[in-house]
Amino acid sequence: MQYADNSGRQRRAIIIGGSMAGLFAATLLRKAGWRTDVYERTEVELFGRGAGIVTHDDLIQTLEHSGADLNDLGVRISERIAIDQEGHVIERLHYDQIVTSWDRLHQIMRATVPADSHHLGYNLVAIEQNLTSVTAVFENGVRETADLLVGADGFRSTVRGIVAPEVQPIYAGYVVWRGLAEEADIPPEAHAAVFDKFAFFLPPNNKNIGYPIAGPNNDLRPGHRRFNWVWYRPVDASQLDDMLTDSDGQRYDLSIPPPKVRADVIEALKADAHRMLPPPMREILMCVEKPFFTPIYDHVSPSLVYGRVALIGDAAAVCRPHIGMGIAKAGSDAESLAQELAEGGDIDASLARFNHVRQPIAVRSVQRGRDLGEYMLEHIDPSEGQNDPHWSEFHSVSGILKHTASSKFLRPTESQGDDK
Ligand SMILES: Cc1cc2nc3c(=O)[nH]c(=O)nc-3n(C[C@H](O)[C@H](O)[C@H](O)COP(=O)(O)OP(=O)(O)OC[C@H]3O[C@@H](n4cnc5c(N)ncnc54)[C@H](O)[C@@H]3O)c2cc1C
Repeated sequence: MQYADNSGRQRRAIIIGGSMAGLFAATLLRKAGWRTDVYERTEVELFGRGAGIVTHDDLIQTLEHSGADLNDLGVRISERIAIDQEGHVIERLHYDQIVTSWDRLHQIMRATVPADSHHLGYNLVAIEQNLTSVTAVFENGVRETADLLVGADGFRSTVRGIVAPEVQPIYAGYVVWRGLAEEADIPPEAHAAVFDKFAFFLPPNNKNIGYPIAGPNNDLRPGHRRFNWVWYRPVDASQLDDMLTDSDGQRYDLSIPPPKVRADVIEALKADAHRMLPPPMREILMCVEKPFFTPIYDHVSPSLVYGRVALIGDAAAVCRPHIGMGIAKAGSDAESLAQELAEGGDIDASLARFNHVRQPIAVRSVQRGRDLGEYMLEHIDPSEGQNDPHWSEFHSVSGILKHTASSKFLRPTESQGDDK
């Protein structure tokens, strides 16, 4: 069904950002009767962002509602393990989950957006709005006017910078190193120890984790997959300053492009891995061609609606990756927005309902990421921690296994075995 204003014109939404949040918004609002156009500043199709992505039931539901092709979504895993420094398993948790890649999710959602409504090479630079419409102004001089503008332009959102400049990402005090190892390159003992698991090594103030994902071109055949290797490490501000500087002396703001990470910074990581990590996790790191790091930030906007502008995904709130649900949240934000706007009634009232439903969820999600992130900077002796219910819930080995990459906390009832 198409919804029209008093003049009979179909309602139109301009979506800024063609990554996951933008694609969800485009497809779900179109299904809700709106005309939608996506404007992405990158000039070529997006590819190769991030690496492994853990899925949740809510993400799979949003993908289904979007009409995405869920065949061969990713690798099914059924167990989480924690290992000690020698590589021995110290704890196990049965946990069914599908782990996939950013590229795969982008590919299946990109296929849901018609080519003539997806525009590459459009960099938003300004927004003008009145009570009933909003105009996007792009760097190339194009102006587009619509009933609604959706800011789906990520954690450094230009849209948020215009409507809520006071909301700034906050550095969490640690970074995440990441990399992909080809399954065929991984030594057999390391492969047998961790490859088909969601594996954790948890020394104080560090989280080293990993899980399998598909190989290039979504290859799920054994022997052709990859291992998504991850290490969260504390880094103070002056160290970070140095790490964000490339070999030409250029200092990057907030994060450094992966190819620009200096060789000596990677060598220092590998030296620390030899000293600190258990054999399987350090051997897998040695199979990673070029590990890269991302500083961890979070933020949450006090409102997701500013007149005829709505914020979704990372533009609205960034949760630390411990909860592994940034894309799931982007999908749920888009789904809620489309549901509210599908009624065909008053747009401003619909946007107010969207904000009422989703902003508190953004706050809770960011807080859960912070709860899990405390482990990175604080340390309580494990014997003392047992007497501290909060520490024991979020920072014991069993607590970390249970709560990492889980969206269960958003459900009204928390029942055992429903921790996805
Ligand atoms: C280490 C790590 C692990 C993670 N693991 C998971 C996980 O397991 N599961 C999960 O669900 N999530 C995970 N996430 C989070 C997830 O990657 C993000 O939440 C998600 O990608 C956000 O999508 P988005 O579309 O909101 O923003 P983005 O992906 O940042 O996209 C924003 C888009 O907007 C475009 N843009 C920006 N400015 C403009 C402009 N001015 N004009 C036009 N276009 C513009 C950009 O080019 C970009 O394409 C992880 C994140 C990290 C860092």
